[in-house]
Amino acid sequence: MDMNNIDNATTRRIAALQARVDTMKEHNYYFYNQPIEEILDGARVRVNGRIMGMYASYSYLGLVGHPRINEAAKKAVDQWGTGTNGVRTLAGTLTLHNELEETIANFKHTEAAITYTSGYVTNLTVISTLMGRGDYVFSDKINHASIVDGCLMSGAEFRRFRHNDMEHLEGLLKNAPADVAKLVIADSVFSMDGDIIDLPKIVEISKKYNAWLMIDEAHSVGVLGKKGTGIEEHFGIGDVIDIKMGTLSKTIPSVGGYVAAKKDMINYLRHGSRAYIFSAALPPAQAAAANEAFKVILDEPWRIERLNENTKQFIGGLKGMGFDTLLTETAIVPVLCVTDERAFELTKQCQERDVFVLPVVSPAVQEGMSRLRATVTAVHEPGEIERAMDVIYEAGKRMGMVK
Ligand SMILES: *Cc1c(COP(=O)(O)O)cnc(C)c1O
Repeated sequence: MDMNNIDNATTRRIAALQARVDTMKEHNYYFYNQPIEEILDGARVRVNGRIMGMYASYSYLGLVGHPRINEAAKKAVDQWGTGTNGVRTLAGTLTLHNELEETIANFKHTEAAITYTSGYVTNLTVISTLMGRGDYVFSDKINHASIVDGCLMSGAEFRRFRHNDMEHLEGLLKNAPADVAKLVIADSVFSMDGDIIDLPKIVEISKKYNAWLMIDEAHSVGVLGKKGTGIEEHFGIGDVIDIKMGTLSKTIPSVGGYVAAKKDMINYLRHGSRAYIFSAALPPAQAAAANEAFKVILDEPWRIERLNENTKQFIGGLKGMGFDTLLTETAIVPVLCVTDERAFELTKQCQERDVFVLPVVSPAVQEGMSRLRATVTAVHEPGEIERAMDVIYEAGKRMGMVK
């Protein structure tokens, strides 16, 4: 590589990455960054001129393109234009933002909420604002990267507990000094495995050791609970999470992130978190779309029911065929392949037969845990899911993964 002929650790890393990507491309094993040409409905897309069943989307309730949500976004553009040209603190706040935050606070049964321009940045800024040097953060081993980055950025003592292992968490809490600020953080639904955090237990332990509890609901809003309001509804327990974090880019077909919490906490974040103070406000169309989407979830509970039925069919079917789907109970369904090579080959064979799934390999998951990470939504038809599973099964059989 000729980068001013500089030879240092970074240029060597760039060359190594390029070599890895080139090798994948040579084997037709490169599936990332493929442009979607058209979204036909939530369940089907056109890629490379071919119509494929979409089994890699986070649009769990199929809300992308929903008429009410599109209409709200268009109206917002007509009324407010396309940008906010300011940070929230200085001229960037529209009545729309306040409405959205009120909607979120109501949806999450808390006093108040604050929004940011992405879920990633929400975790980064919120964790690093609340925690600092000398404090302690306790994070599940397979928490989302944005949580890990927020913990590192905070400068706090960083303790990781084994995945969903409450005894290990308690041991770590016990060993921490009694008088420091403590924060326990976990995903509600784990984004690569689809399993659910033991909320009742993590609440109990956090309380016992005087730690705040923060839960990332990226994959549980619109997914868990009869009404789709998330993990507290799922376990039938009231307002027990101190910091309820979520994203506006998954079930909610927009972009952005939020935290819902007590008034004092939100007020502190509004005046202390740097991503709020130093980065522009959400654009009007996205704020309006998100606001409407929360209302659609409550107005159309049939979507949650359909999602639950489809999830059951998908997990039950794949398990019955002999695949290892780990401990998933939700719409995120890992199909364990173990090696990168097998994950790529299974993906290739599925995509060749118009089932759009994607592989997840290290470092996104632990080495030896490479997988297909498939998702279902409320708008897939049972017959389509059946066909997708047949395609995965036949490929898995050819590869000797199942009998
Ligand atoms: C996707 C995701 C995020 C980041 O959200 P964005 O809005 O995409 O930035 C944070 N946490 C979890 C668990 C996620 O899955």
